[in-house]
Amino acid sequence: MAAARSTLTHLECSICSEHHDAHVLQTVCTKCGRVLLARYDLDVAARTFTRAEIANRPPLLWRYGELLPVIDPAATITLGEGLTPLLAVPRLGKAVGAQRLLIKDEGQNPTGTFKARGMSAAVSRAVELGAEALATPTAGNAGSALAAYAAAAGVPAHVAMPADSPRAVIDEVNSFGAELQLVEGHIGDAGAVTRAGVAEHGWVDLSTLREPYRVEGKKTMGFELWEQLGTLPDVIVYPTGGGTGLIGMWKAFDELEAMGLIGPERPRMVAVQAEGCAPIVRAFEAGEERATPWEDPSTIAPGIRVPAPFADDLILQTLRAGEGEAIAVEDGAIRSAIAEIGRLSGIDACPEGAATLAGLRKLLAAGRVDPAATIVLFNTGTGLKHPELREA
Ligand SMILES: *Cc1c(COP(=O)(O)O)cnc(C)c1O
Ligand SMILES: [Zn+2]
Repeated sequence: MAAARSTLTHLECSICSEHHDAHVLQTVCTKCGRVLLARYDLDVAARTFTRAEIANRPPLLWRYGELLPVIDPAATITLGEGLTPLLAVPRLGKAVGAQRLLIKDEGQNPTGTFKARGMSAAVSRAVELGAEALATPTAGNAGSALAAYAAAAGVPAHVAMPADSPRAVIDEVNSFGAELQLVEGHIGDAGAVTRAGVAEHGWVDLSTLREPYRVEGKKTMGFELWEQLGTLPDVIVYPTGGGTGLIGMWKAFDELEAMGLIGPERPRMVAVQAEGCAPIVRAFEAGEERATPWEDPSTIAPGIRVPAPFADDLILQTLRAGEGEAIAVEDGAIRSAIAEIGRLSGIDACPEGAATLAGLRKLLAAGRVDPAATIVLFNTGTGLKHPELREA
């Protein structure tokens, strides 16, 4: 197997374009406080980042190593993340009136969600750069993923999450030996707890998009769609919390284009949120560049209970760049979509993944999505973490 060498060159601010050193630990832009993105030597990467070469590599997201941040391959911390199946779901497609419907089943990742992708990349890189303790606030799944990768790396992890998080997620964090703080409130309240610990103890903060590498792990979903489909789909429906996946896949498409592997066409990106917490949908509809925080966020889908996403500006830019859509769905529709996906596809959906079906149904009914399009729904996690949402 040809080793895929990282071609990481520097970090660039997503807003003010200031360059930052990628070979020391960084958080956000020191000039303007916004999100830093990793940049690569795409000319060098393009020499080996080809369909034929990649096809011979292990079935992990690390097969895209030219465009991932770990410099020494031996520093990679893997639990088998990535290269999840992209499944045709014709019975489900027929039920909602979509002629070519697919589900990317991210529930088959380590710790049962796509949070494993981001944490594999971020923990590997942080430890490679000398981090001695890691921390994150979370709505749940990022905490169990961090705990798992920190255990694999042998580095202590500190997780703050809402006290009303699913029991299975709380149990996972404890099993992996992380320090867990349960917080009254939502992920924003957990963020304040983590930042206090970071300030006091010098932990490395892996909060969503407040460090540059979780998005690198998550962007590999975009490479996989390209590799598995042979082209990009027309529509991607994504349950949007912090927006890492949306921003990441868009970045992956730009990188593929820069390497000459795709043209300028892009999928329409659809952000689905819950009616009880829809800051991005509200800002999208109002034509705003930033989202105002959502008061009293509430939904049965914890991964999208994110009232004030840090990268709201980048999420909105991504949606608008590709003539995307944003739509909110009711908890009742999420709950019945879990059962419907199960019965008609055999995929065990998490509530966030089920929300994408509910959102698609609304968009098809309103004529906002073409029923003949190739549509990919993201089931971002396994239903096994949510026994409380099973139909009686
Ligand atoms: C975190 C999470 C989301 C939201 O993902 P972002 O990329 O941060 O928007 C969706 N579903 C599940 C299951 C999650 O854990
Ligand atoms: Zn900046």
